[in-house]
Amino acid sequence: MKVAKLYTFDDIRIEDIPIPEVGSNDALIKVKACGICSGDVMPWYIENKAPLVIGHEFCGVVERIGSDLKTTMPLINEGDRLFIHHHAPCLKCKKCLRGDYVQCRTWKESKIYPGGLSEYVLVPEIHLKHDTLLLSDTMTYEDGAMIEPIACVVKSLRRANIQKDDNVVVVGLGVMGLIHVILSRQYLPSRVIGIDRVPFRLKKAMEFGADTVINIEEENAFEMLMEITNRELANVVIVCPNSIEAIKEGISYVGDGGRLVLFTPARPKEKLEIDVNDLYFRDISITTSYSCGPQDTKEAYELIYNGQIVPSHLITHRFPITQVKDAFTLTYKAQDSLKVMINL
Ligand SMILES: [Zn+2]
Ligand SMILES: [Zn+2]
Repeated sequence: MKVAKLYTFDDIRIEDIPIPEVGSNDALIKVKACGICSGDVMPWYIENKAPLVIGHEFCGVVERIGSDLKTTMPLINEGDRLFIHHHAPCLKCKKCLRGDYVQCRTWKESKIYPGGLSEYVLVPEIHLKHDTLLLSDTMTYEDGAMIEPIACVVKSLRRANIQKDDNVVVVGLGVMGLIHVILSRQYLPSRVIGIDRVPFRLKKAMEFGADTVINIEEENAFEMLMEITNRELANVVIVCPNSIEAIKEGISYVGDGGRLVLFTPARPKEKLEIDVNDLYFRDISITTSYSCGPQDTKEAYELIYNGQIVPSHLITHRFPITQVKDAFTLTYKAQDSLKVMINL
């Protein structure tokens, strides 16, 4: 089977490896679609794990089921179209019981083999039991491949805790920023303001329901926000780009009593200097949102199923697996593209 293997960020090869043996408690999935994630194109992050078969936002159809699974999981059948999360929590440990699924040791250790950008993927039982969803007939494989990224935003927005009439600012209008724009409307904010420097992405944000967009190449975002919000600034700021500069900018947009959500890490060794007293006396909180758990994937599924978000609107480019390198370059450039999908 063909896989896309990354050695260094500039060295992604299409290789042939044997289709994995199916153990008694595994399922073999024929991959049909796999999205390129913004995390995949953070060179320092992905090269840390290299060499690896890249891709985790995958969706496919059950090709074969292990003998024991046929009795322990009679609801999963060959031919079923599934979304499967690439990690799965135990659902029993203290972290899981608190809802901190991504901090569960089992979640961190669980993995699919060899990776999403592969013609076939071997999935262990725990993924099938704890974070797998059967696609409805109305959902496409690409819809399925968008469940994970949308679920990450579901979690982020839960943490953002947007109240009715809030001013919401989304920094960075790549696909993840745009999903924030779309889904934040459910909380009936007063306005959603998007900030970016790429005209294509600013335009998309307006199409997807932002009230205002600010091009930071041309405008002073802080001054603009002061004006738009009557000096109130933002009640909630969500920062998506992987840069400490964006995080610092984001903090400056938070109004009194507001909240900042870090939807991104910084680059390794980067430190954030914070004026604690400014934060303290203005009662500003900072929270993180890393990845997503089974509750979030279920919610994302429902949002797609109910048409509250239409994944195909967010997919701008499609490639076969042989052109993964081009797909990566396009995503990395972060210009006139949103979700780049690999179809198999
Ligand atoms: Zn992802
Ligand atoms: Zn656990």
